[in-house]
Parts: sequence; structure tokens; C-alpha cells
Amino acid sequence: MTDLRGKAALVTGAAGGIGRAIVATFQAQGVMVMGADLKAGEADHNVTGDLMDGAFCDALPAQAVAEMGRLDIVVNNAGIITRGKITEATDEDFARSMAINVEAPFRLCRAAVPIMAEAGGGAIVNVSSCWGVHPGPNHPVYVSSKAAVASLTQCLGMDHADQGIRVNAVCPNEVNTPMIRTGFATRGLDPDKAIDELNASVPLGRIAEPQDIADVVAFLASDQARYMCGALLEVNGGKSVQ
Ligand code: NAD
Repeated sequence: MTDLRGKAALVTGAAGGIGRAIVATFQAQGVMVMGADLKAGEADHNVTGDLMDGAFCDALPAQAVAEMGRLDIVVNNAGIITRGKITEATDEDFARSMAINVEAPFRLCRAAVPIMAEAGGGAIVNVSSCWGVHPGPNHPVYVSSKAAVASLTQCLGMDHADQGIRVNAVCPNEVNTPMIRTGFATRGLDPDKAIDELNASVPLGRIAEPQDIADVVAFLASDQARYMCGALLEVNGGKSVQ
């Protein structure tokens, strides 16, 4: 059991596969949650908006305090994946990926740190990827955006530990969510069959479910992880990127 009861969290991408599991996991542990996404999810407070809008991002942490009275935890979970080699990527693919995957966490962290410092501390959990730590093939735009999130996490983990703010990242390998399933569908594959095949490639025998990631996010947000700052925690069922 963690000690999260009574805390307040802001979670981006709260209506997505991993985001919904993070919201439900926090709620089950007594955390009040404000979710931000393009569409409403099932958080206690649901804010809809586009994380490509800088002013929207900048205002979210203060809005969380206004809605919930405090802000102890920020989870930068929203993300998009751009597939293909660099020669297939458009200017828009690059700009969108960097805006949603990197600039939004930058803005949310920048706005949340003074609020948390003033309150005596807090926890920020960024959702990077195994590819943010070990690059994989044919996704240079996505991979470099996730590496930027990993690096941002390590930097902020150092810079704000003395304010009682712990910044860490979870780095999943494949997770059974719309992100991965729509990728298979786009390539003309049956998502269920493709996931069955992927399961066989994981030492634990299956790719992750959103709950597998949400439980690690909750751990990093809790005092159980009190001595962790700037960590990039791989959650991969034993399947490391070669
Ligand atoms: P998902 O597509 O199910 O959810 C992503 C959510 O982000 C969606 O609800 C979407 O609406 C929201 N979002 C996207 N663009 C937005 C914008 N401009 N403004 C506001 N919200 C926006 O994907 P997921 O698999 O749950 O991914 C969550 C995180 O996990 C992402 O950062 C992703 O890169 C990371 N991740 C996923 C996997 C995987 O295999 N699924 C693996 C490693 C890392």
C-alpha cells in the first residue's frame, strides 16, 4: 500500500489507454485527480484542451490548484507516435511530436515546480519509453522526442530534489493500448493477432497492460519512491531493446 491518500494529481492524456489506468489507480488510492486530454475522461475534474496550445499547458498546474486546492503530483503521460524513417516525416509530424511529447511536459513542469516548491515538495512522473533510453528502428521522430523527455527527467531530478520535488520517468516497452493497436490496424494487420505474436517476444509472455504501467507510476508518485530522483524506470516484462 502507498501513502497517496488525500493527495491531488494532474494527469495528461487521461482519456487514453495508460492515462485511464493511471487515473483509476490514483482514485483507488484516495488521490483526487484532474485529467487533461482532447476529450473528457473519468477523472474527478476533466479539462479538455489541446496540449499543443502553450497557454493551455502553462495554465494547467494553477488550474489544478484552483479545482482541487493543492497539487502534489503531475503525470506527463499524453503522447503521440509518428512512425517511419526520417525521409517519410513531414514538418508537421516533427512539430506535433515535439509539441505534445516534449514541449507540453516542459511547460507543465515549469509551471508546476514553483507551486510544488512553495508547498514543500511533490512528485512529477513523466511517461517516456524504452526507446527514450535505447533507440529502436524506424521511428526517429518518436524516439528522439522520448529521449528528450528522458533527459528532461534526469535534469529536473537533479535540479529540484533540494526543493523536495522528485522527478522520475517510467519507460514502458509495448503496452496494449489504442496507440499500439491503431498502429497495427493502419498497417493492415489484425491488432489481436499482432499482439498475440508480440506476446511471444516478451520473456514474461505478454506485452504490458495499462495497469502494469499505472502501478509503477503510482509507486514513483508515492513516498515509497522517496529516494528516487531522475530515475528512468524501464517496465518491459524482461524485453529490453536490442
Ligand atoms: P493512447 O493513444 O491510448 O493515449 C494517449 C492520450 O493522449 C490520448 O487520450 C490522446 O487523446 C492524448 N493526447 C494526444 N495528443 C494530445 C493533445 N494534443 N492534447 C491533449 N491530449 C492529447 O496512448 P498510450 O499508449 O496510453 O500512451 C500514453 C503514453 O505512453 C504516451 O506518452 C506514449 O508515448 C507512452 N508509451 C506508450 C507505449 C505503448 O506501447 N502504448 C509504449 C511506451 C510509451
